[in-house]
Amino acid sequence: MSAIDYPKSIDLARLPTPIEDLRRLSRRVGARVLAKRDDLTGAALTGNKIRKLEFLLAEALEQGFGGVVTCGGQQSNHARATAVAAARLGLRCHLLLRTTSPDSPPEPSGNILLDRVVGASIEWITPEQYQQRDELMTAAAERLGTEHATRFYVVPEGGSNALGAWGYVRCAEELCDQLGRVPVTIVCAVGSGGTAAGLIAGCRLLGLPYRVVGVCVADDRSTFQARIAAILDEMADRYQLDVRTEPQSIELWEDYVGLGYGVSRDEELACIADVARLEGLILDPVYTGKAMVGLLTELERMRTADPVVFLHTGGIFGLAAVASRLAGTAG
Ligand SMILES: *Cc1c(COP(=O)(O)O)cnc(C)c1O
Repeated sequence: MSAIDYPKSIDLARLPTPIEDLRRLSRRVGARVLAKRDDLTGAALTGNKIRKLEFLLAEALEQGFGGVVTCGGQQSNHARATAVAAARLGLRCHLLLRTTSPDSPPEPSGNILLDRVVGASIEWITPEQYQQRDELMTAAAERLGTEHATRFYVVPEGGSNALGAWGYVRCAEELCDQLGRVPVTIVCAVGSGGTAAGLIAGCRLLGLPYRVVGVCVADDRSTFQARIAAILDEMADRYQLDVRTEPQSIELWEDYVGLGYGVSRDEELACIADVARLEGLILDPVYTGKAMVGLLTELERMRTADPVVFLHTGGIFGLAAVASRLAGTAG
């Protein structure tokens, strides 16, 4: 029995995900580094978004929706996870995907291929239109609802709202079961903030001595401190939880964004290849590759005695977008 009163959820993820010692990496950096394998939540359903969708899609089903609408970048893991989960649940799925020129959309590789295979409809939108994503999703939901004589549930970007974040409250509880109440530093990539918010909330609710550090893969620290604090405020209001947090106290590393969201520097791809050869652990270019560069760089400075748990949040299909460059790192 859990000490936490969770909202209703459905079973989509293979849980608990394992924790593995990265022995050779640990020896090299002189600190114990473990990987929490949330890339093993499923096959096509790989990654962190599945945990959030367990709560979000439970609400959609309970309220009788017949379809879902969500959004993301062109190779969005979240959009792909939503599309696959929707197919599994018998829901229609419509995706608003951001691309520089919607008139010549990208090749159907990686996540886009899976979106297509499971039958999601895709609407390509420009980065300018993407700024109005919430309004566009609401409009699409109305339009499709009329067209298909059902209602479409809007899943916010990254599944990152007060309900989706419960997926990472559950992950914090899982970590407690696996590691116990010992001081560890949890490091995760931050893209829309729901993962970090859920972990912070879970640690608060369970009184865990874990330090949660997010690595920004876009934007800067203050932007994400505000977004994560806003999700925690929303959780506090909606579920009467004592999880409000000062934005400035949310720990984020902002120096590893590199060339920006979804754009890889050579050293990030080299880090992916390096970790793959050292540990057989495959990171992704958009999130976990940048987060690992951050972790390895900070470890040189930190000299922490506490073990570090690197949260592998998935994203393997994103490798398709850097295939030729990554293959070029072969030794
Ligand atoms: C979305 C995503 C993240 C970031 O999680 P947020 O909850 O959006 O901050 C990290 N890693 C991968 C692989 C993702 O797809």
